[in-house]
Parts: sequence; C-alpha cells; structure tokens
Amino acid sequence: LMGQMMNQPLLVSSIIEFAARHFGNSEIVSRRVEGDIHRYTYRECHQRARRLANALQGLGIEIGDRVATLAWNGYRHLEAYYAVSGSGAVLHTINPRLHPDQIAYIINHAEDQVLLFDLTFLPAVEAVAAQCKQIKTYVLMCGRDRMPAETRVANLLCYEDLIDSHSDDYAWPRFDENSACTLCYTSGTTGNPKGALYSHRSTVLHAYASAMPGALNVSAKDTVLPVVPMFHVNAWGLPYSVPLSGAKLVFPGAALDGKSVYELFESEKVTFSAGVPTVWLGLINYATQNKLKFSTFRRTVIGGSACPPAMMNALIDEFDVEVVHAWGMTEMSPLGTACMLQAKHAELPREEQRKILQKQGHAVYGVDMKIVDDDGKELPWDGSSYGHLLVKGPWIISSYYKEEGGDPLQDGWFPTGDVATIDPDGYMQITDRSKDVIKSGGEWIGTIDLENIATAHPAVMQAACIGVAHPKWDERPLLVVVVRPGMAVSREELLKFYEGKIAKWWLPDDVVFADTLPLGGTGKVQKNKLRELYKEHKLP
Ligand code: ADP
Repeated sequence: LMGQMMNQPLLVSSIIEFAARHFGNSEIVSRRVEGDIHRYTYRECHQRARRLANALQGLGIEIGDRVATLAWNGYRHLEAYYAVSGSGAVLHTINPRLHPDQIAYIINHAEDQVLLFDLTFLPAVEAVAAQCKQIKTYVLMCGRDRMPAETRVANLLCYEDLIDSHSDDYAWPRFDENSACTLCYTSGTTGNPKGALYSHRSTVLHAYASAMPGALNVSAKDTVLPVVPMFHVNAWGLPYSVPLSGAKLVFPGAALDGKSVYELFESEKVTFSAGVPTVWLGLINYATQNKLKFSTFRRTVIGGSACPPAMMNALIDEFDVEVVHAWGMTEMSPLGTACMLQAKHAELPREEQRKILQKQGHAVYGVDMKIVDDDGKELPWDGSSYGHLLVKGPWIISSYYKEEGGDPLQDGWFPTGDVATIDPDGYMQITDRSKDVIKSGGEWIGTIDLENIATAHPAVMQAACIGVAHPKWDERPLLVVVVRPGMAVSREELLKFYEGKIAKWWLPDDVVFADTLPLGGTGKVQKNKLRELYKEHKLP
C-alpha cells in the first residue's frame, strides 16, 4: 500500500523560492570585493537568480552542464548557487587558493563551460585561461564600471550586464531529485583532487538536517555570517540551510582578517558564525589586543580541523560565545557530527562538560558511523578503543566523480581516513587522521592531543605535531610551535608542561620554533609539508 502524499522532488530551487515567498524581506548583506557594503532581500536575490538562469540558458547551458565559480562569499555567488543548480546545471565551486595547475586541472576534469569569477581573481583566470579549452564564456562578477579595459581573457562578459539584459520571467524546471547539483573537489594533498558530486536530494536533506537544533541550530532568530568559504564544501551547507530557515545572511567577501570580520559582526548584529580554527585565531587575537567584546555574537560552529581547547575556553569564558565543535569532510557534504551537551550533563562540573564539548560530537540524523580495527572488525563504543572511522548516509558519496580512484566503499561504508573513539553516549572523538598518526614502537600516538596540550600554554599561539623517523621506534613526535608575539617559552619549559598530562612515552622528543605554520587552501596546517621540512631533523 502506497502513501498518498504529494510527490515533490527535493530540488534546491525550492529553497530560494521558499525564502523569497515566506521570508522575502529578510536581508542578505555583503561586503563586496569592490569595498562597499551591499544589501538586499531574499526576494531580490530570487529575482536576480532567475535573471541569471535565463542568461545561462542564453549562453547555451543545458541540464547537467558544469558551470564554475571562483568567488568569495557574496550575494552574486549566492545567485549563482541557485541559478546554476536550480536550472539543472551543475555548480562547480573552485577553491582559489589551489595551485594554478590544480585549478586548470579541475576545470578541465569537470569540463566547465562557463566560469563566473570575482574581480580579485582576474589575474588567476588570465594565468589559466589558455589551458582551459572547454570554457566558452567567462563572466566577471562586477558592474560595467569595473570591467577591465584590456584583458587576455577572451569572451569575457560583465555579470551586471547579463543580469540587466535578461528577464526574471523564469520557472524553475522540475527534474529527478537525484540529478547532480554541485561539484566540489577535495584539496588533494596527495595526487590530483577528486570530485564529490552532490545531488539535489542530498543537498536538500543535508540542509534540513544541518539546520536542526542538535546540529547547527539555524533559525529566523539568527543573523548568520559564514566565514567558511562558499568554495569550501559549499560553506558547510549554510547557503542552503540559512535561506530555508529565513535567517538574515551576512557575507564577508574577501576581508577575512580579525578586524574586518569583527566590524561586520558588530555592524550587522551577527549572532551565529562558522569557520575553521585558524579564522577564530585571527578574530580572538584582534578582540583581545583591542580589549573588545561581542555585542550580539553568541554561537559559532568550529570544524575542519580540531578546535584547540584553549580556543574553545577563550570563546566561552572570555567572550560568552557558545562553541559547537563539528566534524565532516568534502565527501560528506560535509556535516557528520556536532557536539552539544545533553540534559543529563547539566549538573556536571565545568571541566567535565568541557571534556565532552571538546569531542567532535554526535552523529546528525542521516549519518551512521562505526569504528573498525585494521581487519575491519567493529570496535566497541567505550570511549577508549580507537580505530578507523567509517560512515554512511544519504549525503555521503558512493563514488568520486568520473569514478576516479575506483570504488571507495568498504561493505557499503565510506572510510573517512580518520582515526576515532566513540563513547557509550555516542560522542565521537577524532584522535587523528590516519596519515598523520605517529607510529612509535608499533603503537599509535594521536597528534591532536599533543597539539591541544601545547596550545593550552599561554605563550603558544599555534602548534603542530608530526612524526620524525627514529632508528629504534620507527617514528617519534616532534612539536612545531609558533610563539605568541611578545612572549617567550623554552623547549624545556614546554616539555615540562606536558608532565602529568599525558603518558610518558607520548611526550614529544623535541620542540622546534617556527615563525608560521604552512596552511593549505582550506586553512588547515599542511602536515605533509611540515614532515618534508623536518625530515632531516635530528632528535636528541
Ligand atoms: P580535505 O580532506 O581536502 O582537507 P575536508 O574539508 O574534506 O578537506 O577535510 C576533512 C577532514 O578534516 C576530516 O577527514 C578530518 O580529518 C578533518 N576534520 C574536519 N573537522 C574536524 C574536527 N572538528 N576535528 C578534527 N579533524 C577534523
């Protein structure tokens, strides 16, 4: 017996349609690359997205064709999100921080036909255009007044001219919800990047689930500023989950330094934000140095790499900002888990609560997870057994785009490449990435714990721990530290700081001081670069 409910495909166009109809007056505010602040409403966004959809059709874009963007978080990028996917084409968001060769590689691999880009990236586009033979049209996302007088990019159109010259008379097409919607490439630290090809169904389900109170908790009460870029796993789904919640949306553009982000938080009364730890480092430093507090900012999601406890404590205790630690990956759209206390934790002492909040958290409904040993045998949820973390769910890839790398699944589960524990209450904690774990005398040392201890030292701004070859133990931990400006700490003092906090054999063998840590395109420490840099380091 079949249910008798309307069968409506889950399409992303329905999100902007809903926002425009039911929250039509909610604002979208953007700091533009041009420098000024732009503001309009969901209603106007929807109207311009329809104009852009007509324009794309005029450029010959058909269902399934790939259209790329190279752009910051801003209203034009949001219009492209909906115009491209909504019309049935596939939005390919490119990370501009990738190496130009990698950018050319993924444009060609995706067979992008149109590239929409921000002014900032004109030199980058000029550098790769000759290699990207399949792109028929380039669109510079600005007004006529900012178009370059001369450029090496052939077939360059002006975004605002395109919008102006097309009507908003456009009805979003209806098609199979399993059709491709967006394409994101992993950062490819080793080998070429691989594409995760999301569907409309997976994107809408992910948007629903991630907006829930137990996950990102987005509602129309919020003003949301996604610091996480729209070119990094669709800004963790916020361009979908925020409009469907009706919340005000604030885009920071290219200005991601502490001062600019702080000023936008204050002027637009931002309540909720999301980003990787390195971003919060800049914001916290700026606020601390200038003795500033946040007037409205009350909650943030931190993920992409482990949130150091010192950062979490500073945000909660000094700035009164709730921290939701979350975990996910490109292959998971990205949300897998989010961390929140349960009712039964309310009476726990502060330290015990923090220990829980430090974990990567609970699976969000839709995602299942398990940990297994090297032989694939499932390990217990006791909070101490650690193993390879596997996941499954409707917004997790079943294979990479163009089947690159073969079948990635193991018995229907996707191996995340992370090593984790799961406790009896279902809280998952990442110990490490399997490729970063230090293998010492046949045992594993998780580097996240070692880094968290180092960053708890008042003089330490950033820390990364890597394995260095050792004649007897295979590998031993080396701690690389960036000291806070104007402060000092010695190697001996730091090593002493570890005493009593960790098993003796986990203690780093040595400490080196660096001016900066190498960061990848998504703001994460590049441990492969560090390992290369210190591979000759002689441990004492
Ligand atoms: P890439 O894998 O290309 O660097 P992703 O953003 O997909 O980009 O990275 C996913 C990985 O980031 C996860 O597999 C995990 O190792 C790490 N990660 C994400 N969130 C967290 C977190 N909260 N704590 C620790 N590691 C995290």
